[in-house]
Amino acid sequence: MKATFLGGASKVGSLAMIMEVDGLRLLFEYGMTPSKPPEYPLPLREPVDALFLTHAHLDHSGMLPQVISDYQIPYATSPLTNELIDILLEDSLKVSKYEGFPQKFSTHDIKIMKEYYNPIRDGESIIVEDVEIKALSAGHIPGSLMYMVDNDKKILFTGDINTINTHLVNGTRAPRCDTLIIESTYAGREHELREKTIYRFLGKVEEVVDRGGVAIVPAFGLGRTQELLLILQRSGYRIWVDGMGKRISSIFLKNPAEVKNTKKLRHALAEAHMIRNPKQRRKALKGDVILTTSGMLDGGPVIEYIMKLKDNPKNAILLTGYQVENTNGRRLLETGTIELAGVEEKINMDVEFFDFSAHAGHSQLVRFIEESRAERVILMHGDNREELKEAVDDGSREIILPDEGNPIEL
Ligand SMILES: [Zn+2]
Ligand SMILES: [Zn+2]
Repeated sequence: MKATFLGGASKVGSLAMIMEVDGLRLLFEYGMTPSKPPEYPLPLREPVDALFLTHAHLDHSGMLPQVISDYQIPYATSPLTNELIDILLEDSLKVSKYEGFPQKFSTHDIKIMKEYYNPIRDGESIIVEDVEIKALSAGHIPGSLMYMVDNDKKILFTGDINTINTHLVNGTRAPRCDTLIIESTYAGREHELREKTIYRFLGKVEEVVDRGGVAIVPAFGLGRTQELLLILQRSGYRIWVDGMGKRISSIFLKNPAEVKNTKKLRHALAEAHMIRNPKQRRKALKGDVILTTSGMLDGGPVIEYIMKLKDNPKNAILLTGYQVENTNGRRLLETGTIELAGVEEKINMDVEFFDFSAHAGHSQLVRFIEESRAERVILMHGDNREELKEAVDDGSREIILPDEGNPIEL
């Protein structure tokens, strides 16, 4: 077996890996990093037999239309992921156009790509020339899968994983395998217990609303918005939902086989107020909670709300996910300001961070590695892999930290 990372081995972002088994060439993910400027994996130089996509996030899926329309590659992913990527890819095209970065593919390429789709679900397999590739739930976001390549030896490619249960998806468990290729996003970092985060979050919302303020909750539209809606349900507050989360929610409702609690979600959505016009947007400014994209304050309706509410310290911004470097969210946490079109804006609001991550934390990754009993572990998709290596390096297994572009022979 040979594995070559075209991207995303030594950092979180633009993941792509070629696996060669028995003369077969399989591509796992072909993502992009939506930074400024965006980052892409190394180009694919030779055709591959098939592409497997674990989930819809752009750092895994963002360049699929380009590589699939160029090489006409059949690809497999869950039916839900296949619907979600339409929204994410179109949005990413819009963003790069708006920001003036080159377009790597067109809406036409997205359409062409769809003709090469093969559905695969949790527990199902696809056979490519005698090699079996089995899908297993990854517990990360609805529709997310891991792939087990079974060819005398079992090789697991995890994509992004989570091992705790959330409202939308159950946590995954490690299957037995010989070689484990595992994400390391949270290597060296632990999460607070989820129940505690929920308790703190609801307490903070109560505090803000009780003092007469409005709580702006920036959240990724895919998964986080719906998770928070379910957390906030029955709180009795007026919840406004704006941004991409609205469209994603209706896709979730259409796919109850791949989303836990769609009944509850339907209720929560019916009780919340969906924002569809400027009049509703003005109403939302009166409270109580505004749930909107983007999660890192880099565009989306959230900016408009912040600009209207920024001068009243009774109001709050409750960040609900990790804030990547060079984003407005990180800037807000570190300096109390955001930057809009080159202008620095002082934000005179209460700001707090809550870790609602959809990734396994450090100890959870360690346990996953141990439970897989893999004799060889490849750590990918992390910028702090050494700490995870140290934690699992007890002499009982081989640990490899690949970099981009250099094949590893196994
Ligand atoms: Zn992800
Ligand atoms: Zn990822």
